[in-house]
Formats: sequence, C-alpha cells, structure tokens
Amino acid sequence: MKVEANRCAYGQHAYAMKKHQAKRLHYDLRLEWNGVLLSWALPEGPSCQPGVVREAVEMDDHREAYLQFEGVHHTGPIMLWDRGTWEPEPESEDIGKSLRKGVLRFTLCGEKLQGIWILTRTNITSNTRHIWKLGKYPDAFAERYAHRCVLVERPNSISTRRTLEEIARDWTRPRDKHQGQMKLFDAA
Ligand code: MN
Repeated sequence: MKVEANRCAYGQHAYAMKKHQAKRLHYDLRLEWNGVLLSWALPEGPSCQPGVVREAVEMDDHREAYLQFEGVHHTGPIMLWDRGTWEPEPESEDIGKSLRKGVLRFTLCGEKLQGIWILTRTNITSNTRHIWKLGKYPDAFAERYAHRCVLVERPNSISTRRTLEEIARDWTRPRDKHQGQMKLFDAA
C-alpha cells in the first residue's frame, strides 16, 4: 500500500540538506531537535528509490544557528541544497528513544525532498563514528521519482539558486577573521 506524505503541515522541527564540496563532494543532513542539529554526512547523497540505502555517517551535533548557512568553509564551499521541516513518524515519536535504539522513521517536508525516510544505525563504525543507513519508504514522493534523480535534476541552492562554484566565487571572508574561522569551523 502506498502511503501519502501528508504530514508536512505538521512539521515542527527544522530540516536542511547541505551540499558540501570538501575533499570529496557529499551531502549533510541536518535535523533540528532539542536545540541542536542532529547531523549525518551522506557520501553519495540521498536516494529517492525505495530499496536503495545510502550510507549516513553520524557526525557531532551542530549548532542551530548554522541551519541556513551557505558560504565557504575552510574545507570548501557549502550550499543550502534543501530546507523545510521534519516530523517523526508515530513509531519514532519519542525521538530520544529512537536515536538510542538506532531506528528513526520520519517525514521530510522539504522543498526538494519529501515523504517518509528511515535512518537505521548499523554496527559499523568509521573512525569511531557510527555508520547509519538512510532509506526511502515507498510513497507518493518515491513514485514520482521512480526513474529520476533529484540530485541531478535540482543541483543548485534552494535559497540563492547558485552552484557550488558560484558560492565559492561570491564568497568574501568574514570581517573578523579569527571569529569567522572559529564560527565556520563548526559549520561543515
Ligand atoms: Mn560536510
């Protein structure tokens, strides 16, 4: 049975997906919860195809202030690729418990990504970081993208429409260099 992604009106937590050209291009998932941004790095980005799971490396929580950040970090340019809200599915309503258990089912109400997604923690670690898997639940959004790739179709910034190259080109260093570096260090 296909389930409609109809919980978007109720999304209470902020969501963002960054596109980050560091040594390797990757995407960064940010889910706001409890005053911080839960963070995962996705080496291949998300896939809209149910059955295709993508590696999601658990990162340290980020500060909420970085949710909308778009600019150049010392590791490379960062794009605000998608933004919106997210909401746990009923079985993951206790978010803290779900994270401890290692299974989080949630709806994304982004401008690009929508529908139900599942994060599952594996037993694998990489440099002491837990590896999770991100999968797409079969729903109307997945059906719409059955033979398409949203990463290819909509590659640019959701806020400025810029490419990573344009973000890098436009960037001017923060005025207070020291403070700027300190702040930006956390933003990746
Ligand atoms: Mn990153």
